[in-house]
Amino acid sequence: MPDQGNLRRSEALIEHGFLLPPIALGELSWQASVMKTLDGKTALVTGGARGIGAAIVRRLAGAGAHVAINFANSTDAAEALADECRAAGGKAFTVRADVSKLTEIESLFAACDREFGGTPNLDILVNNAGIGSGGQDASLKSGGEELFDAMMATNVKGPHFVTQAALPRLRDHGRIVNIGSMSGKVGQPFAAGYGMTKRALQSLTMSTALHVAKRQITCNLIAPGAVATDFIAALREKPGWDDATAKHTPMGRLGTPEDIAGAVMMLVGEDARWVTGQVIEASGGLSI
Ligand code: NDP
Repeated sequence: MPDQGNLRRSEALIEHGFLLPPIALGELSWQASVMKTLDGKTALVTGGARGIGAAIVRRLAGAGAHVAINFANSTDAAEALADECRAAGGKAFTVRADVSKLTEIESLFAACDREFGGTPNLDILVNNAGIGSGGQDASLKSGGEELFDAMMATNVKGPHFVTQAALPRLRDHGRIVNIGSMSGKVGQPFAAGYGMTKRALQSLTMSTALHVAKRQITCNLIAPGAVATDFIAALREKPGWDDATAKHTPMGRLGTPEDIAGAVMMLVGEDARWVTGQVIEASGGLSI
């Protein structure tokens, strides 16, 4: 029988979102659910204060990693999330930096170096920060330059230079996970510029995977379908959009941030050591 103190602690962690409730397979699955598989590891999640990034932070910290939560604007959400991680026994800190700007990427890593110690000091990098159209016109027909440049800066230039800064800091056997999109896999005239940024991230994923392969570091990309976050709030205001999207998805629903965080956890684990340079859909089967 599991120790009652540990069981209560496990229940508290589940309540705070740090652990997924164990599937009812008895004691064995209960023990597996509380294993700190990332104990002693460090992780940086860009755009980690809310949405998909926040779900990834919770899972990494819950598995024992010391997590740097990067944010650009969401100061309160970042601080609250770091507090939540620490209250549940995890290790986390926040760093403000706009990843579309090189000088801020430098200050982001300077802060990580201070917290994590001398280099190499990083095990897991998750390039999650990204922007979409936010309801503006991003179409091929009439999308404007300002939005196009902003998406390129955050979604392409950001991960490129964050990865470049991370390379000398990453320990051998490290993990890089890029958060792409199904929009990078299919044509979308209504959001051509956004799709281009995520296709570019697939290219970066392959180049990075080759660059770090000899060090046994992997780099993969998760391509989510529609995930219920602020990111698609404007789309979801359209009557019937949720239902139509769920109907179009083989598994019959929108994704959740936790669905994507689960896929990230799969890739950062030891069992994924031979998986690199891959685009892995987490979309409920959209492209089947
Ligand atoms: P949200 O809009 O909920 O969150 C976006 C996050 O990115 C925020 O934490 C934001 O930080 C951060 N961010 C944006 N710009 C910058 C910047 N310049 N520097 C640092 N951080 C920044 O979106 P999601 O959580 O849904 O999206 C996360 C990732 O998933 C993105 O890359 C997105 O393209 C991708 N994705 C999302 C899908 C969806 O349907 N939701 C589908 C497919 C892919 P802050 O709040 O501090 O500004």
